[in-house]
Amino acid sequence: MSLKSKVTGLILAGGRGTRMGRVDKGLQPFQGSTLAAHVLRRLAPQVATVVVNANRNLPQYRALEGVAAVLPDAMGGYEGPLAGLQTGLQHCATELLLTAPCDSPFLPADLAERLYAAMQAEGADLAVAVTMERDEQDPAAAPYRQPHPVFSLIKADVLQRLDSYLATGARRMEGFYKTLRVADVLFDDVAAFRNINTLEELQRHDREQPATAPAAAPSLGGDPAALHVAEAQRLICERVSPLAATERLSLLAALDRVLAEDIISPINVPAYDNSAMDGYALRGADLPAEGAAPVVLKTIGIAYAGRPFAQAPQPGECVRIMTGAAIPPGCDSVIPQELTAAIDGDQVTIAHGAIRPGANLRRAGEDLKAGGTAIAQGKIIRPADLGLIASLGIAEVTVRRKLRVAFFSTGDELRSVGECLDEGCVYDSNRYTIFGMLARLGCDVIDMGVVRDDPVALEAALRTACKTADAIITSGGVSEGAADYTRDIMAVLGQVDFWKLAMRPGRPLAFGKVQADGDAAWLFGLPGNPVAVMVSFYMFARPALLRMMGAQVKQPAMQARATEAIRKRPGRTEYQRGIISTGANGEPQVRLTGAQGSGILSSMTEANCIVVLHHEQANVAAGQMVDVLLFDGLV
Ligand code: AMP
Ligand code: MG
Repeated sequence: MSLKSKVTGLILAGGRGTRMGRVDKGLQPFQGSTLAAHVLRRLAPQVATVVVNANRNLPQYRALEGVAAVLPDAMGGYEGPLAGLQTGLQHCATELLLTAPCDSPFLPADLAERLYAAMQAEGADLAVAVTMERDEQDPAAAPYRQPHPVFSLIKADVLQRLDSYLATGARRMEGFYKTLRVADVLFDDVAAFRNINTLEELQRHDREQPATAPAAAPSLGGDPAALHVAEAQRLICERVSPLAATERLSLLAALDRVLAEDIISPINVPAYDNSAMDGYALRGADLPAEGAAPVVLKTIGIAYAGRPFAQAPQPGECVRIMTGAAIPPGCDSVIPQELTAAIDGDQVTIAHGAIRPGANLRRAGEDLKAGGTAIAQGKIIRPADLGLIASLGIAEVTVRRKLRVAFFSTGDELRSVGECLDEGCVYDSNRYTIFGMLARLGCDVIDMGVVRDDPVALEAALRTACKTADAIITSGGVSEGAADYTRDIMAVLGQVDFWKLAMRPGRPLAFGKVQADGDAAWLFGLPGNPVAVMVSFYMFARPALLRMMGAQVKQPAMQARATEAIRKRPGRTEYQRGIISTGANGEPQVRLTGAQGSGILSSMTEANCIVVLHHEQANVAAGQMVDVLLFDGLV
């Protein structure tokens, strides 16, 4: 049964239109028809029938082509969108109801599909669209999640719960949603959820070219059951949590480990004011004023790093000073020797303007203040961190215990390196890539070899892995044909979801918890194709493993200009292998490696980055900017 046939569309047009001067919003003229007609046109291809909830001008709404019914609020009194939802649910003959407000002419053409996929994956009663938005007043601030409660897919059988909620006198959608199992669904296209609140906005949009957001729903041809990459990532990361166990290590042993405590500085760094240059420490008051003749200062001693000069110079005197030496008492500036006008024995001549008072000093506490956080927990300790911690005199640190990850390959056709390659067989390469990716992440790895396509062998391998590992990575055996018996075993051993993802490569993925004899581990069932393994490891396993490790890692976002056109179908995320380089103008540019098939491992070795083509993105023209993930940032 198609998704479309399970869904009734409900256009919410029952408001008073207060912000539009009480006009009936849905009937306002917009790009040749009305707002409601635009919403209808976007909704209709996604649902079996469309009904409108309206409390005024019912005949005009009935006249819209393709509207099955126009329903006024059962409650009366303009009680808001929940009243509209109640009416919609009362008349909903299908299993699901998809709502959209009458003033959202740009709503996504895959709204139903996307909400449905998440609802299924999360076993939710309701799926709600969410976008990441930025504060226009403060563009530097972090983006925040903006839910759009009126863009929702809801199970028709929640009606009773809504009735009881409304009976309490409460009217807010957000409040009601709190009583349900809700799946949030992240949409990339913020503009698709733009609603039009004032007549002025309406007129502005009406003048704009519809090209900003096409009024006709494009056919995406996506798979309604396929799960959006961002949703799968979120579902996985929400479920796993950081390991609690920690250990104390000497500083050098802590390289590449995850810091489990904040490093608080016990001292000021630097501990005292010191010189940033080789030169002469002096009193700023002695520097010549503008228009005045150069001054000649007399050198009274030398300050070395580690051997301070304790005497304060008198007016007209200075101290020869080396980089890192403590500034002698009374001095507040250093002139580098190359900026002096002349040096003759102990006489140093300085002209006006050579330095400003206060120049070339490193102030006590300028790097770190005593009591301040030098490094926050969660950081993976890199060489610079070792140096910083050592600069505080700290010899030991607390780090998270290493994550133990077991991995094996599945497939009767697989032969291990060193074995004879029988006809129809391939060498197991996935175990090597997975080993490399896990080792780079700093995990303790447990290589379990190749497991045959046999339920008994698979079950035994998973049971063993549960006992020793925090996480298990497998490859192969999760695609639709192959997954049948894998599914049965996973059902015995735990709770594992088999997802079909809207992505390429790497469409199938299994994720969940497996348990045996009181031990449990998170399972990542990656696809078998060698490129798909790497891409799905990087996109799904890696962020989750980092979270389990307690690591806070920000992936640096980077863009490059595509040197050639790239074909891309909207409705799925694509990861293509790319080669990034510096173009003639000094800008980063990227081209794709030749063959992009998901079994072609040479495309991965040739590439130095992955070009990320987002879910909604269509063909890329040569010269357009695209997002890339550098391999060096990933490993
Ligand atoms: P599967 O998902 O098990 O159907 O595997 C998909 C494809 O990936 C098949 O062509 C397999 O032969 C190949 N494949 C699976 N596992 C491995 C592996 N460990 N090394 C190399 N190729 C593999
Ligand atoms: Mg297989």
